[in-house]
Amino acid sequence: MTAKLAEDGAPGKRSQPAPKATPMDSALEEARAAAARGEVPVGAVVVDANGSVLARAGNRTLELRDPTAHAEIIALRSAAAALGSERLIDCDLYVTLEPCAMCAGAISFARIRRLYFGASDPKGGAVEHGPRFFSQPTCHHAPELYGGIGETAASSLLRDFFAARR
Ligand code: ZN
Repeated sequence: MTAKLAEDGAPGKRSQPAPKATPMDSALEEARAAAARGEVPVGAVVVDANGSVLARAGNRTLELRDPTAHAEIIALRSAAAALGSERLIDCDLYVTLEPCAMCAGAISFARIRRLYFGASDPKGGAVEHGPRFFSQPTCHHAPELYGGIGETAASSLLRDFFAARR
């Protein structure tokens, strides 16, 4: 790994390797797919301790006629099914938008290790806004928080989506 990095950093012509897609890139892909289905463009990805993708999902509340079918909930459910455990120990969640109160609760119950989110959501978010779920004394597991990851792309997706609906 180190040798590879040094090699790539060496001067001279060298074909550029394609940048490796990050879990947030996959979450953004899910958000775009959700928008194409007419859903609010939010996507989520769960990765295990090794960074392998366990589950990925976009919003499906309209399609499933299910108010709980947020990207995070669907991704957590399918990751739990994949692991055969209701606790996603050492797993991380990437989501394009600051989670709402429902999803923050589910993230806590799932024992998610790190939460990476894109755009902040002053209207419906529950991490940095509103209930600030993870800071409450009634919250028994709080993930490490990393906000603003892929924020620009996530925000512009949401902005374009809502602009198109007006
Ligand atoms: Zn939610």
